[in-house]
Amino acid sequence: QKFVYDFTEGNRNLKDLLGGKGANLAEMTNLGLPVPPGFTITTEACKVYLDSGEAPEALRAEVSQHLDALEQKMGKKLGQADNPLLVSVRSGAKFSMPGMMDTVLNIGLSDKSVTGLAKQAGGDERFAWDSYRRLIQMFGKTVLGVDGELFEEALEQAKHAKKVTVDTDLEAADLKKLVRKFKKIVSDQAGRDFPQDPREQMDLAINAVFDSWNTDRAKLYRRQERIPGDLGTAVNVCSMVFGNLGPDSGTGVAFTRDPASGHQGVYGDYLQNAQGEDVVAGIRNTVPLADLENIDKASYDQLMQIMETLETHYKDLCDIEFTIERGQLWMLQTRVGKRTAGAAFRIATQLVDQGLIDEAEALQRVNGAQLAQLMFPRFDDEAKTEKLGRGIAASPGAAVGKAVFDSYTAVKWSRSGEKVILIRRETNPDDLDGMIAAEGILTSRGGKTSHAAVVARGMGKTCVCGAEEIEVDTKRRRMTAPGGIVVEEGDVVSIDGSTGKVYLGEVPVVPSPVVEYFEGRMHAGADDADELVAAVHRIMAYADRVRRLRVRANADNAEDALRARRFGAQGIGLCRTEHMFLGERRELVERLILADTDDEREQALGALLPLQKADFIELFESMDGLPVTVRLLDPPLHEFLPDITELSVRVALAESRKDHNENDLRLLQAVHKLHEQNPMLGLRGVRLGLVIPGLFAMQVRAIAEAAAHRKNAKGDPRAEIMIPLVGTVQELEIVREEADQVIAEVEAATGTNLKLTIGTMIELPRAALTAGQIAEAAQFFSFGTNDLTQTVWGFSRDDVEASFFTAYLEKGIFGVSPFETIDRDGVGSLVRSAVEAGRATRPDLKLGVCGEHGGDPESVHFFHEVGLDYVSCSPFRIPVARLEAGRAAA
Ligand code: ADP
Ligand code: MG
Ligand code: MG
Repeated sequence: QKFVYDFTEGNRNLKDLLGGKGANLAEMTNLGLPVPPGFTITTEACKVYLDSGEAPEALRAEVSQHLDALEQKMGKKLGQADNPLLVSVRSGAKFSMPGMMDTVLNIGLSDKSVTGLAKQAGGDERFAWDSYRRLIQMFGKTVLGVDGELFEEALEQAKHAKKVTVDTDLEAADLKKLVRKFKKIVSDQAGRDFPQDPREQMDLAINAVFDSWNTDRAKLYRRQERIPGDLGTAVNVCSMVFGNLGPDSGTGVAFTRDPASGHQGVYGDYLQNAQGEDVVAGIRNTVPLADLENIDKASYDQLMQIMETLETHYKDLCDIEFTIERGQLWMLQTRVGKRTAGAAFRIATQLVDQGLIDEAEALQRVNGAQLAQLMFPRFDDEAKTEKLGRGIAASPGAAVGKAVFDSYTAVKWSRSGEKVILIRRETNPDDLDGMIAAEGILTSRGGKTSHAAVVARGMGKTCVCGAEEIEVDTKRRRMTAPGGIVVEEGDVVSIDGSTGKVYLGEVPVVPSPVVEYFEGRMHAGADDADELVAAVHRIMAYADRVRRLRVRANADNAEDALRARRFGAQGIGLCRTEHMFLGERRELVERLILADTDDEREQALGALLPLQKADFIELFESMDGLPVTVRLLDPPLHEFLPDITELSVRVALAESRKDHNENDLRLLQAVHKLHEQNPMLGLRGVRLGLVIPGLFAMQVRAIAEAAAHRKNAKGDPRAEIMIPLVGTVQELEIVREEADQVIAEVEAATGTNLKLTIGTMIELPRAALTAGQIAEAAQFFSFGTNDLTQTVWGFSRDDVEASFFTAYLEKGIFGVSPFETIDRDGVGSLVRSAVEAGRATRPDLKLGVCGEHGGDPESVHFFHEVGLDYVSCSPFRIPVARLEAGRAAA
């Protein structure tokens, strides 16, 4: 096993082994670009170190061998007194990770070699001592764990003593003194002297990089981003080049195109006479990269050419780090650069136009999460704003409302029609009502996996969390922002869940141009928004061309159905009929539940029938020519009755006034009778149909009569009747027999052939396990992955997300809620086997999924893989599902 690779030996495909930075340094080296020579220690070596606590036996010798070769090439020896080679030791995992160790520059400097460095630099003592103090500072902090503040303070003191403000004004003698001070800080704090042996410096730095893989911050980040914990990091040893050798030197960063718009041009920053970390640290003001043309034309031209080479080579936007040492350009890093959601779409189509990538590749360059981001309404960029602070962008969206500081007020105010923003230090399960009532949620504590963040994302509600500069005082119902701005209860605030920014007052919101486009209100044109729309339009066309999965909507009424159609829905995968039992119709449902005799029951059903039928006629008309899956009544009946506490109070009050209300009394009895400990597992779904005579028959009749009506009006209704919560084929058979009979009656009476199909939801483990039998009675399956997830995990969805999911996420038990992304190994494997068993029984069985997972990017890929025919999701998610279905197939 080989643990060390020279930059000339690697390439960009070796990211697993060499990390991102190492693989790309190798790639650039082999492209013939000017990269300072060096070598990379593999992630394998790191893994051995982390497992055993020691670097692998062979590593030391291999490092020596590569160091020798490097010394030969450079004609200097590491840390040699009169002519030292200096190196940087740089961490570099496969995925770039905040919380990992920083880079240590200038390794090889010591009390002796500092003079040699000055000599190399043509007698520049100042430069040599500045480099040395930087080494002790970085090494002390990152390798020996000394508090960085101590060095900063000493540096400040030195500047103060000399009455200067920037460190470049310190002279050699000052820096020499500072080095002495820094060394003292190290020996005081670290319990050892700063190592003078260059090889010891290097080895300690390498081990420190290995160790940094397991810092708390790195671990937390990995869990959140679902990066496996056992990848390990590579270590890059790179010979130093110096941007701080005078005005003809400098350092900079650049993008091959604008990461915000995607436009090609010269984007970046340059800092004269500086070393790498100065640019990021913002110590002095940088100049725009374009100015480099005036400063050093030759290097500028060379850089432009290199950027062109990189773009054509990587076929994507790259970001780079470079340094100029006395007019000589050096490349220190490149990678495929991050970009905004909008730029991702633009760049993908630009690259297609340039002939660099094809349509299939373009689809891989964007994703559904980015599209979803582009669909949220946004705060108007033009608007004048007063910023209060900034937190973590936890759940996207733009929310405006009156500040409230407790859930009770949030609920109360929202009931009276106010829009509110719930502001808490952090939220807990007791805040759930308030979170539901609020437009958005703002917390001053907690990160991306805090209770507020998790729950808000689950609800699709705007959330900014961890806005630490803001002080929340729940008792006094106010918050204080930096600058002493006080926001009292009732003051309006605006929060941006896509950027984490918090504003005072109402920031106007503009609809997303992408939604305007999907709604058919905007077409491709010339201005900036339209350029984005044109890109989205093209990418959606690629996706629609290649995808196999069809995309349907979950919609209960014609309005939602029509919007879904505009968004590209190819039918309705789930029409919930319970919404048709609410409002004024509640009274009819109450009558149905309270009916003592067949007669009373039939009367109640008879009154519901025309109402349901009218709903279906509208729905079938809006989806004319496309399938509409109607689910028969699913929720437990008590949901349609008054709340038990409220009702008890009402009855008790009436009793005390001797004012006897017969109906309330009967209702209360019924509520008591229907009360269940576990309604989710109780009398609901198909069980209702089997226990309450005539209920499902009425619903089937309404569907059939509505379909017949549409047929006779020359429409093309395509209704599918779906039976929920089936656990065994017998249940389905009984319901089907009754339904078939009703349909036959309607057909005979109306002289139509309705071609209605009858199928079932697969949402109980037993249904999935006996799918082969169930398929004998079902013409289609629709996987109800919400209930299936609840029953497979034994999680009550209404409770667990708010109670212990935060802890589960923090402990890394899962990286994302299984209600958000399908659990492939558990729930997914049941889906897979049910698909196979169902198709074995009935080869033309139609298969789909309804439930939240139908619009979740990762889950869509899974449903594509297992061979479903369609996914169904909420209207707003349809474009996302279309895009992801395309990406899965491309
Ligand atoms: P990060 O991942 O934080 O960017 P890097 O390893 O890229 O860490 O290094 C930090 C800074 O030091 C960068 O600006 C980089 O360009 C610079 N740097 C790293 N190695 C060298 C080197 N051998 N010579 C000069 N500058 C370097
Ligand atoms: Mg870097
Ligand atoms: Mg269900």
